[in-house]
Amino acid sequence: MAGEGFSTMKIRRIVVTGGAGFLGSHLCDRLVEQGHDVICIDNFFTSQKINVARLLSRPNFELIRHDVTHPLWLEVDEIYNLACPAAPGHYQYNPIKTMKTSVMGAINVLGMAKRCNAKVLQASTSEVYGDPTVHPQPETYRGNVSPIGPRACYDEGKRAAETLFSDYHRKNHVKIRIARIFNTFGPRMHPFDGRVVSNFARQALAGEDLTIFGDGRQTRSFCYVDDLIEGLIRLMNAPDTVTGPVNLGNPKESSMLELAQTIIDLAGSKSKLVFRPLPADDPTQRQPDITLAKATLGWEPKVDPREGLARTVEWFRNIDLRHYRPPTPNF
Ligand code: NAD
Ligand code: UDP
Repeated sequence: MAGEGFSTMKIRRIVVTGGAGFLGSHLCDRLVEQGHDVICIDNFFTSQKINVARLLSRPNFELIRHDVTHPLWLEVDEIYNLACPAAPGHYQYNPIKTMKTSVMGAINVLGMAKRCNAKVLQASTSEVYGDPTVHPQPETYRGNVSPIGPRACYDEGKRAAETLFSDYHRKNHVKIRIARIFNTFGPRMHPFDGRVVSNFARQALAGEDLTIFGDGRQTRSFCYVDDLIEGLIRLMNAPDTVTGPVNLGNPKESSMLELAQTIIDLAGSKSKLVFRPLPADDPTQRQPDITLAKATLGWEPKVDPREGLARTVEWFRNIDLRHYRPPTPNF
C-alpha cells in the first residue's frame, strides 16, 4: 500500500489543504490510517464537514477552518496543496477568488514549506493543457489555454501555481512535487457540483433526462479516486529529484455519450438523453500519457472505470441529497 508499510514507516506531520473536499477527504483517510499526524485545512467553500466527520474522533487528525489565501503558521513535514474549487460551476462562480486561491494559496504553502524545510505537493490539473492539440497529452506538451476565457481563472491560476512551485524549487531549493490530475471520480463527489459523473449519476437514479452538453462526442479519461490517491502518495514519497510535473489519470478514454449509457445501465435506469449547448472553451478531448508516472512511481490505475462507476453510482444511491447544500447557484 502506497509503498509504505507500518513496520518501515516514519510518522510525519502532514497538512492537507482542501482536505474536506472530494479528493482531500480520501487522502486524509489514507494518511490517518497510515498513522500520520494529519492536519486538514479547509474553508468549506465546496465541501462539508460530513466528509471528514468520522476522522474527528481520531487522535492523529485535526481540522482547521481556514482560507489558504491567508498565511498560516504550522510546523510540518509535508503539505498536500489541494485547496481550490475544481468543478467548472464552482470555480467560475467567483473567478477572481479562484485565481487568488491558486496563486496566494501556492505562495502561502510554499512559504510554509520553505520555513519548515517540508515537502510540498501541488494538485495541478490536466486543465493546464487547455483544449489540447496533442493527443494523448505528455507532460512536455505546453498546452492550448485561453488566458481570457471562462475557464482561465482555473487553468491560468493552476499554471501560475506550477510556475511558483518551480521557482521556489529553483531559487529556494524547496522540495516540490507537481501532480497533473486528470478527471477523477468516486464517492464523496459533491452531488451538486455540476461535474459530469455527479450530474449523470444523480439524474439516472432520479429517472431524469441526462444532460449531454454539445453532441456528447467530446472525450475525457476518468480515473477512480482510490487509484488517484495512491498516485499522489507515491509522488510525495518519491525521491526529491522527482519534482514533476507528473500526469496522474486513467488513460481509458470515453465520450460523454458512452459515459451516459454506462451510468444509465449501472443505475438500472430508464432515463433518456437531452442535449444542451456546449459551454465555452469546453475541451474536445483529454487523455493522459502516463509513461512518466509508470517509470518514476511504478504507478498505473488498477480500478477499471466501469467498476469505479458502479461503486460511485451505489454511493449516490445511498446518500440523502437533503444533506447536501449546492455551494453555488451555478449548477
Ligand atoms: P473539491 O471542490 O471537492 O475540493 C476542494 C476543497 O478545497 C474543498 O473542500 C473546498 O472547500 C476547499 N477550498 C476551496 N477554496 C479554498 C480556500 N480558499 N481555502 C481553503 N480551502 C478551500 O474538489 P476536488 O475534486 O477534491 O479537487 C481537489 C484538488 O484537486 C483541487 O485543487 C483541484 O483543482 C484538483 N484536481 C481535481 C480533479 C478532479 O477530477 N477531481 C482534477 C484535476 C485537479
Ligand atoms: N458535461 C455534460 N453534461 C453535464 C456535465 C458535463 O455533457 O451534465 C460535459 C462537459 O461539457 C465536459 C465533460 O462533460 O465536456 C466533463 O465535464 P466536467 O465538468 O465533469 O469536467 P471538465 O470539463 O472540467 O473536464
